[in-house]
Amino acid sequence: METIKRNVLLNPGPATTTDTVKMAQVVPDICPREKEFAGLMKGLRSDLLKVAHAPEDEYTSVLFCGSGTINIDVCINSLVPEGKKILVVNNGAYNSRAVEVCQMYHIPYIDLKSSVYEQPDLKAVEQTLKENPDVAVVYCCHHETGTGVLNPIREIGALAHQHGAIFISDTTSTLGMIPLDVVKDNVDFCMASAQKGLMAMSGLSFVIGRKSVIEASKHYPTRSYYCNLYLQYEYFEKTGEMHFTPPVQTIYATIQALKEYFAEGEQAKFARHRRVYEAIRKGVTDMGFQTVIDPKIESGLVVSVKYPDDPNWSFERVHDYCYDHGFTIYPGKISTTNTFRLCALGAIDVKDIEDFFVVLHDALNHYNIRL
Ligand SMILES: *Cc1c(COP(=O)(O)O)cnc(C)c1O
Repeated sequence: METIKRNVLLNPGPATTTDTVKMAQVVPDICPREKEFAGLMKGLRSDLLKVAHAPEDEYTSVLFCGSGTINIDVCINSLVPEGKKILVVNNGAYNSRAVEVCQMYHIPYIDLKSSVYEQPDLKAVEQTLKENPDVAVVYCCHHETGTGVLNPIREIGALAHQHGAIFISDTTSTLGMIPLDVVKDNVDFCMASAQKGLMAMSGLSFVIGRKSVIEASKHYPTRSYYCNLYLQYEYFEKTGEMHFTPPVQTIYATIQALKEYFAEGEQAKFARHRRVYEAIRKGVTDMGFQTVIDPKIESGLVVSVKYPDDPNWSFERVHDYCYDHGFTIYPGKISTTNTFRLCALGAIDVKDIEDFFVVLHDALNHYNIRL
């Protein structure tokens, strides 16, 4: 077998994958309506529950063909009952995406906005819930991937429950990297896509959530055909299959990725991402870059770095130099600050980060950029 060029992706997903995950996609052609394939999905759905420590009798996982945003769409359009509201605890781009979904579907919502540089204020969440007894759903993303801020979802979930609401968390950029226990963390619905924490390929996304709520949602207003949570769930329950064509090869890759996930182990994987993050922080600081977010509230998965002031700086050129050497970095604007991001996702380790900083150093020298 030819070896595949290894790129180190420091962008916030898709992430660097192992060769064994890449190769798992190369399989004999199969019609996904075969029993054999349904059997694969059954095991996959059950393994996904294990990643989130979700008890099988209370939770289920529902698969969708699409990028991670499909989960946000599905959860919001499917889980808000008639005459009720959703409260979006919003401190960044991914929570704002949830607000945009509410707007698209004309779902009544409260956009509780706060600084993108900080965690949300729990007092404000509590006050809003007190003043708005018609809030049936509270929503907050676990990790604002655009900044690197980790949100206190356990506390937000507890407040939701105290006020009779369910709690949905977008865990796309943490699940499989930072341990999550849906019961202890007060999460009724979470979500992710295969290409982030699980280190598989893009095209498969999944929602993990409470069966009783999905069943109740059968009677909620239906706002989408393709992206309705109850319909997809019911189809899985009846047939073991996705309602429409699944991303076949991505599913094979995800099954392999889950094998590797359990072999590495939740805690060991968490520790690896953490040391990669520490290496990124060290490299950035040693070179003299400035960062944007206080490390105390960072997820340990994303570092947002400010563009240097030097007029020779060009993100494009530095990006291209790094890219040509096998490293991908990613731009991003936080409020009015121009930044780029270095992320600790994927099948990488400290050595990759050390190698990256050698290349980044060379890039700055090459273009005569001073920090
Ligand atoms: C990556 C990501 C998503 C999904 O983005 P897609 O481009 O649709 O895959 C959603 N939420 C968060 C927090 C993410 O990091």
